[in-house]
Amino acid sequence: MTAAADRSPDTAAGLDEYTEADVHQEFGENPNEVRDTNHYQEEYVKGFVDKWDDYIGWEGRAASEGSFFIDQLSARGVEKVLDVATGTGFNSVQLLKGGFETVSADGSAEMLAKAFENGRQHGHVLRVVQADWRWLNRDVHGEYDAIICLGNSFTHLFNERDRRKALAEFYAMLKHDGVLILDQRNYDEILDNGFSSKHKYFYCGDTVTAEPEYIDDGLARFRYTFHDDGSVYHLNMFPLRKDYVRRLMREVGFQKIDSYGDFQETYGTESPDFWIHVAEKT
Ligand code: SAM
Repeated sequence: MTAAADRSPDTAAGLDEYTEADVHQEFGENPNEVRDTNHYQEEYVKGFVDKWDDYIGWEGRAASEGSFFIDQLSARGVEKVLDVATGTGFNSVQLLKGGFETVSADGSAEMLAKAFENGRQHGHVLRVVQADWRWLNRDVHGEYDAIICLGNSFTHLFNERDRRKALAEFYAMLKHDGVLILDQRNYDEILDNGFSSKHKYFYCGDTVTAEPEYIDDGLARFRYTFHDDGSVYHLNMFPLRKDYVRRLMREVGFQKIDSYGDFQETYGTESPDFWIHVAEKT
């Protein structure tokens, strides 16, 4: 049961302008049983999408990412990039600012509308395309030097067939020497060391708390609490193990895969929060 669904829209400050449908995420009687690749569409409801930028915090994220992605792309002479998980547009806007020709795709129309609005606010007109990764080639045209799939998005795929299909679609849309940059939360840490690890809570500034509510080998259910208005949303995700993702990438044809921990090339014993896989076709 979702807290946002529990709360009538007019009982929490800031939610007044929303209808019940805008804030209601439908997880049914047994939320922990919702393990469905298609469900992301229902999870990114308008209320949550409008809050997403409070969660990711554009300034803080820009500071922590630094020039990592721009450097990776520039080093390979990339000009044309497809952002397949545009969300509210953070990475697409960074790429446009960096001078890359960018197409912004996402399976969620709600997210793309927000991304377009954010792009306008930053002085850019995003080229948006609604497309599900599993049928990317049907809806997005052209060949790209690079594809980015960031912000722990690949985690939304709940079965291996979907993951292989999506990676194969990414592979096919890349030029012969193209690169895929895909990141993921460090689920190995949560699966192996449980909630008691230092990664139990992921604080994003003072305004949002993101924390795992339930985890097993097939589900990581996270709760996002927004302190300004008390709204609560959830995402049900598949806890991807790092080596498993690397193996899948190799099996669909990527020849060289480098995995960076929290944007660092070398990592010691400290466990990073995120892994960034840079997968090259040649
Ligand atoms: N990259 C953005 C960021 O970092 O803020 C958004 C990340 S959000 C966690 C995941 C995004 O992936 C959502 O916008 C969602 O709509 C999209 N997504 C999830 N599954 C998808 C699929 N099968 N096809 C296309 N987009 C999908």
